[in-house]
Amino acid sequence: MSRGIPEPKLTAMDAMIDKLTGAIFVFQIVVVMVLGIAGNVWKDTEAKKQWYVLYPDKGPWYELLIIPLRFELLCSIMIPISIKVSLDLVKGLYAKFIDWDHRMVDLETSTPSNATNTAISEDLGQVEYILTDKTGTLTENKMIFRRCCISGIFYGNENGDALKDVELLHAVSSGSPDVVQFLTIMAICNTVIPTQSKTGDILYKAQSQDEDALVQAAAHLHMVFFNKSGNILEVKFNSSVLQYEVLETLEFTSDRKRMSLVLRDCQNGKILLLSKGADEAILPYARTGMLFIYFRTTKYYFDASICLTPFLTAGQQTRNFVEAVEQYAHLGLRTLCLAWRELREDEYREWSLMFREANSTLVDREVNGILVNDILYSNSYELNFSVYYLSQWRVAEVCQRIEHNLEVLGVTAIEDRLQDGVPETIETLRKAGINFWMLTGDKQNTAIQIALSCNFISPEPKGQLLSIDGKTEDEVRRSLERVLLTMRITTSEPKDVAFVIDGWALDFALNHYRKAFTELAILSRTAICCRVTPSQKAQLVQILKSCDYRTLAIGDGGNDVRMIQQADIGVGISGREGLQAARAADYSIGKFRFLKRLILVHGRYSYNRTAFLSQYSFYKSLLICFIQIFFSFISGVSGTSLFNSVSLMAYNVFYTSVPVLVSVLDKDLSEETVIQHPQILFYCQAGRLLNPSTFAGWFGRSLFHAVVVFLISIHAYAYDKSEMEEVSMVALSGCIWLQAFVVAMETNSFTILQHLAIWGNLAGFYAINWIFSALPASGMYTIMFRLCRQPSYWISIFLMTAAGMSPILAIKYFRYTYRPSKINTLQQAERLGGPILSLGTIEPQPRPLIEKDVSTLSITQPKNRNPVYEPLLSDSPNATRRSSGTPFDFFQSQSRSSLPNYSRNCKDN
Ligand SMILES: [Mg+2]
Repeated sequence: MSRGIPEPKLTAMDAMIDKLTGAIFVFQIVVVMVLGIAGNVWKDTEAKKQWYVLYPDKGPWYELLIIPLRFELLCSIMIPISIKVSLDLVKGLYAKFIDWDHRMVDLETSTPSNATNTAISEDLGQVEYILTDKTGTLTENKMIFRRCCISGIFYGNENGDALKDVELLHAVSSGSPDVVQFLTIMAICNTVIPTQSKTGDILYKAQSQDEDALVQAAAHLHMVFFNKSGNILEVKFNSSVLQYEVLETLEFTSDRKRMSLVLRDCQNGKILLLSKGADEAILPYARTGMLFIYFRTTKYYFDASICLTPFLTAGQQTRNFVEAVEQYAHLGLRTLCLAWRELREDEYREWSLMFREANSTLVDREVNGILVNDILYSNSYELNFSVYYLSQWRVAEVCQRIEHNLEVLGVTAIEDRLQDGVPETIETLRKAGINFWMLTGDKQNTAIQIALSCNFISPEPKGQLLSIDGKTEDEVRRSLERVLLTMRITTSEPKDVAFVIDGWALDFALNHYRKAFTELAILSRTAICCRVTPSQKAQLVQILKSCDYRTLAIGDGGNDVRMIQQADIGVGISGREGLQAARAADYSIGKFRFLKRLILVHGRYSYNRTAFLSQYSFYKSLLICFIQIFFSFISGVSGTSLFNSVSLMAYNVFYTSVPVLVSVLDKDLSEETVIQHPQILFYCQAGRLLNPSTFAGWFGRSLFHAVVVFLISIHAYAYDKSEMEEVSMVALSGCIWLQAFVVAMETNSFTILQHLAIWGNLAGFYAINWIFSALPASGMYTIMFRLCRQPSYWISIFLMTAAGMSPILAIKYFRYTYRPSKINTLQQAERLGGPILSLGTIEPQPRPLIEKDVSTLSITQPKNRNPVYEPLLSDSPNATRRSSGTPFDFFQSQSRSSLPNYSRNCKDN
């Protein structure tokens, strides 16, 4: 299936590393130019006076370029080329960790988690917005028939299960005509195919879970759909077999929101139209006697009694259906209305001709190679979509010519249970400062109920839900303005304010009031978008991305593919709706609850590890470059290299690469602590471990270490009798020892592997150099043997390590003791082994600071993303995130309980 070519994704860290690389490149050019000029000046003024340098009086025409080019060669390793290779390697490992994580295997279906995209794991740790589908993502997509209303009588209200309702069972056994007709529609108005197993049981193959639930429920109520051969459907009811011949199938589409069958009752030869669909797709087409104008007042009110106002001569029956739909929606159940009517033979024949003609135009298009999916996902989406849409519209229009005057029989209510662990996952991730948007194709009330039950929105008084609605552009604008105004006022209050909008209003908002809607997106932590199309889902992702937020989209069906591809990170749930979403996604998981682990454990560790690895790569390259630069000051700025080429090559490839690669195993905190205290994800989201400020820290560290190594090795070994190779080897040894200690100091959790990599690497350094010292042709014959025998060598190494590490250790100790970050606090608690106290009671967050920051934030401005950078080795919690439009509640620890009495404050807005 062609979905177009998704754009390659670049993580925030990659972008930052690219920026830092650019800065280092500029620095390198400046150094080369300055030293090049200085070298030429020194050569002309001083070097030519020295007879032993043997400079010729007249050099070649490119003489001026020689020294700068030498420096360019010396400084070329300033940008570590190895960083790309190392990062690719560790990113591959991060992905493997996700694949191997046995705690993210869905045991029900034995689906392991899978990372398709190996390059963006760090972004998981920086997610700020999660846009989630509802059905199949938050819910199980395992439909269970719970209640129904047939001819105005409610079944299943007492015990919550219509299948066990004595009254309904009685009505079935007594053969009540309405109930039998209702059950017939439940059993056969679908595209389900019954098959018989070897044991004689009837199994149903259904495209949608709703249809499966209805057929199963009908079978439970003795209306057993047991055979479909060709166009003939056979149903068994109370031991008598009923046959129906399907004449036409009017398929379900998301625009029509209903499906119908035209069939002939083989018992009496009558032609019947059976329909089932959403209330707004069935009730407006009810028979004249029951006709009412189905006014979509859901846009204005939440309250059941006034939500759907029947106009004109609405009978009690109709009121009952409307009431049933609303009652069921408030319980979070999915509703379908069932209806039928008898067709006259001539009416059917006339319509049938039109229907076939309309269908043939659609079929022609499909035969011509423009398949539906291709059209929906191809690059020239808009154009093809309109062509496709026209043919679809023609079919829909013909369908509607027959789908009227319906006799509504009743309403079914199907439960789609929340997946296990969804409320906890959402609560934890919200504590981690992640905002949630729910984008669903379902009804508004059902969506709100689901949102409440999964901690998505908080009930009053903690939460407030604002509604954006309207039938016309003007109404939508006014509603949007009101909500925006309320949002601005309530931003400073510690209250969860969410907004709800439906596809219709969203269309106006996105096309005409994009700016205002974008502002709303910045202000709102939570949103519920109902009745949205796949393309609207993608547009919403785009809006959040345009505000510079890191977005994660999660969904399970083909209708989520565009949103998943559009987001920074796409997560697919490999559920009952097939693998379309999982295949298009960067990560696929079996259940929504695994998202918690994916973000807090894998995302966070990946971010931390990459932050260390990338900055360390710059540190070690800069260290050796700085030593070369310092050496030029005592070598007549001639661009002479202190180190031989073998050492330089081995430095990056062997001596310094292994220990740092093992940092992929490093864990600053245990997984349990991280999940218990999700607030610490803030450090990753705000980019606190890799930014220009922390990079400056590493830059300073390499400069300082270069000074230490250079001064000590020159003072100890640059005397008359020593060789250049000896000085070089002492300096190199100093670098290797220092980098081993730096890695050891930055490692939080030691395993045998880490010890082996760090100290084994050091031993490896000596082994390699002893081998080279044994080779007469290597240029460093006997050097290492001689050095290792001298106490002065070991004293120098000790001095370098002590002088290089002690200030860094001192800074670290000072920070750890007097200005500990939340991470340090948790580390201390872990180390002491005691119960980890609430972070809030250990060190309260200075709230006024946050509020002050928020009040100064101009909400009409796009989000300012500059986090407050702290100097050297920064990870202090005191700096708050000015970028966020809402106060970051670092210590919100109270759980959000979901109470059913959600405020219907939408009327006020
Ligand atoms: Mg879905």
